Parts: sequence; C-alpha cells; structure tokens
Amino acid sequence: MSVFTSWPPDVTTEQLDQLTLLATTYALSHSILYLPPVSPEKPPPPAPESAIFAPISLIPTPIPRHLFANALTLQRAYNTLYARVALDTSFLDQIMGPGGVSDVDDFISALWTGWKKLRDKGFPPPLHLGLFRSDYLLHQPTPDEPISLKQVEFNTISSSFGALSQRVAGMHRYLIESTGYFGISPLLSSSNLPSNDTIEGLVNGLAEAHRAYGVPDAYILFVVQPNERNVFDQRMLEYQLFESHGIRVIRQTFAELDTTASLSASRALVITRIPPGLKLAPVEISVVYYRAGYSPADYASSTDYATRVYLEGSRAVQCPSIALQLAGAKKVQEVLMRPGVLERFLTPSEGAQAVRDSWVNMWSLDTGAEEAVRRADELVLKPQREGGGNNIYRERIPLFVGLLPLHERVAWVAMELIRPPRGVGAYLVRQGEGRVRARAVSELGVFGWALFGEGREVREEQVGWLVRTKADDVDEGGVAAGFSVLDSVLLV
Ligand code: ADP
Ligand code: MG
Ligand code: MG
Repeated sequence: MSVFTSWPPDVTTEQLDQLTLLATTYALSHSILYLPPVSPEKPPPPAPESAIFAPISLIPTPIPRHLFANALTLQRAYNTLYARVALDTSFLDQIMGPGGVSDVDDFISALWTGWKKLRDKGFPPPLHLGLFRSDYLLHQPTPDEPISLKQVEFNTISSSFGALSQRVAGMHRYLIESTGYFGISPLLSSSNLPSNDTIEGLVNGLAEAHRAYGVPDAYILFVVQPNERNVFDQRMLEYQLFESHGIRVIRQTFAELDTTASLSASRALVITRIPPGLKLAPVEISVVYYRAGYSPADYASSTDYATRVYLEGSRAVQCPSIALQLAGAKKVQEVLMRPGVLERFLTPSEGAQAVRDSWVNMWSLDTGAEEAVRRADELVLKPQREGGGNNIYRERIPLFVGLLPLHERVAWVAMELIRPPRGVGAYLVRQGEGRVRARAVSELGVFGWALFGEGREVREEQVGWLVRTKADDVDEGGVAAGFSVLDSVLLV
C-alpha cells in the first residue's frame, strides 16, 4: 500500500499530546513565531511584548525522493528563465503594458507605467535580484497513475517563510531524534529528512547583490508593511546578514520612505533614519528588498507608487525590480506555456523540457472563456494578484465569467486543477485552537535567487525549500492568510 493512501500512521492521543508539547515548545524557542493579531480594539503596542507560535504540522509530509530532487534541480532553470523574462522589455510590454493587462488592471498599470517612466528617462535598474519561490503540488489524477510534481506558481516578490521553514524542518528533526515518533513508522527516520539551509541561502543572494553594488558600508533596505505580523521570518534574514556578512539592515514602510528617501547626484539611494530625534546619520542603500509592494493594499495612495518608482530610479539593486515583479505574474506563466514561447528563453540543454513537464494546462480567459465554463469543475481562475485569497474555483467559475466584463478577461488565467493524492492526513496545530486532524494537501516551495542585469551573466542558485499544508477542503493555500500550516519534507 502506498504511503499516499494512508498517511499519517495511527498515533494515540497520549503520543499526540507529547508531540504537541515538544513541537510548540520548540517553535517558541526557535522563532517559529508571529506577532499576535491586532484589531482596532487591540492596536499593537509600540514595541512587541509577546509573540505566538506560527501554525505548524506535527508530522512531516511524504514527498517522493526523486520528485523532490527534480524540483531542486529544476530551480536553476527557473531562476535563469525568470531573469531572462525580466530583461525582455518588449515581451513584458506586450503582455503587461497598454493593449495588454494594463488596460484592465489598475495595479499592473500603475507598476508598468512607473517602470516605463524610468526607462524613458534612461534609468532602468542596473541590477536586479530575485529571491524566488517556485510552488508545486503533487499530482495524481487517478490512483493508477504515477505521482508527479506540478507547478502552482512562481513567486518573484516577497517570497516568504524561508526562514521559518528552515526552523520547522529543524523541529521535525528534533521530534524524530527525541521521540522516534514512538515507532509509528519506519519512514520517520532522520535519514529521510533533507537538509534545509534556506536562511543562509537567501542571505547569500542578498549579500551577493550587496557586494555587486560595491559599497561595503551601505545598508540593505527592507521595505515592509505596517503592522506586519510575520516579522521574525524577515528578522532572521536581517540577523544572518549581520552575523555572516557584517551587512546591516534598515526597515521602513512606504509611508516612511515617502519622506526619508532621497537620491544623491549620482543616484545613490540615501535614507534618513527615523525617528529624526535619534539623530542617526543617513545611510546609503545597496539593495532594496521588498517585503511589501506585491499587493494594491500595500500602496495607500499614488504617493506610495511614486515612492516605489523613486526607489527603483536609484542605483540600488532592486529585489525585485518592477520588471521582475511583472515577470512573476500569472499571465506571464500562461504566455510562457504557449507553443514555442518558453523555448525562446531557455534551451533544451538548460532544461526547457523539464520546465514544461512541470506545468498543467493554462489559457487566457479572453481566448477560452467557453472552455473555462464548460470544464469549470476541473479549473481555477486566477487574476494578476499575490498573497492568497484572489482565485475563483470550480463551480463558482461559470457565474463569475458570466458577470465579468468582456474586456477584463485578458487579465484572468484559467488553470487546470492539480490533483494531489487523496489519502494523506496531517495534524495541524494553531495557537489558541489546539490540534486538529485533517485530510491534507501539501504545497512544496523551492527557493532560489538570481542576480542579473543588462549585458551580464545571470548568477543564480537553488537555496532551500518549504512545505505548507492545508486541510483539503480549503482551496487557497497561504500561511499568512490563515489557510495553511508550516510543514517539512519526509522523503519516501
Ligand atoms: P497566490 O499568488 O495568491 O499565492 P496561487 O497561484 O499560489 O496564488 O494560488 C493560491 C492557492 O490556490 C495555492 O496555494 C493552491 O493551494 C491553490 N491553487 C492554485 N492553483 C492551483 C491549481 N492549479 N491546482 C490546485 N490548487 C491550486
Ligand atoms: Mg501561492
Ligand atoms: Mg504568489
């Protein structure tokens, strides 16, 4: 019997209580944490006073060994692919500019317009850094077919949970070493746990970009959301930058940057530190790392868009540039899938076929609305948004398509549903909600970075992975959005 028809093995309540105790204590000890929720009645204190553990899975998730290895290998091809797409201005203009998605999507239009302005002035970013995460689900439409791994999406901005995921992998290793999971399965052995060094890997990408900028004393700027709860995932990167590379970080929101950012005569980005009362000297920025800016909600007004463009008009490395953010749109994923398009960016020896093999079918709603309605039960519809909660699934599709103005169809992509094996369960633990057993679906993410610019060789690496697991009656997947828990890989 396959592990995918009967996972996890039986565990007693007593054993689960012990695993929960060890897991949550480990999580609280190792920064698998969020800041507590805030609300209008309960605004955040000026400085954090407490944290809660992030949602976690008690038992790691089985992933076939060869598929996991493939996904890691594939990341190198994806890094190169998206670097090249981001540098292909006319390709992106055609899809995302006027006449394309910009005509019907204000968010994409604002980003594209800002980017175009910079190009017209002759200030495209000299160097782009991508900290990527390519997401996959196991795919097995029927039990007799072999399991494969299919891509959900490729993230080019604010790819999160790299740091927390490394810690969760450590937590599962600790649970194996300390309890052996009470012998419930011989698979639960340390030898089946792949290593996870995502923090170091992502930080190496940032440090490489910092060195390429060439001013050792400069700081890296993290552009962050106000009231961000997932701060520890970001802070761990900050601390590692400092501890391994001696590089310092400054964190500011768009609202703050509206007043603190300035450009020198040579377009070096200089930031005034806040509050001004601290009388700290302004700092030069080597790399702008956006952990905000992926969603319209991150731009409170047109000033914030102007600030984004202002930052990108500097000499600092952009992680990501607007071009790279646009390259990560679902629409681009769909266009790449059309016959011959991917192959314009990636040669056979660079892995074009393996990349294609990782895809399920996608098409644009403007050319295939009828098919989308007819096959609704097998499909998901996606707009050009990130961060979870934006998609339309299955039976909701026909009505949605019926109500969508015709000209807006170009901004929606229809995608076949990936069909994970059905027999997998998980124990999900959330602070304040205890532990639940659920039938579960797990999404594997592989991290990579690429540093590139016009006329330079792309430098890139695969740097780590994560697993997010959700109850299988939930369509969406984000951890931050509250749908998923953090998990790790058990090679089988
Ligand atoms: P976002 O950028 O908002 O994260 P995704 O494309 O990742 O958008 O979609 C959100 C979630 O929807 C995924 O995490 C996954 O759980 C589910 N999903 C997306 N595409 C598919 C698909 N083709 N098959 C099955 N589930 C999907
Ligand atoms: Mg996603
Ligand atoms: Mg995404």
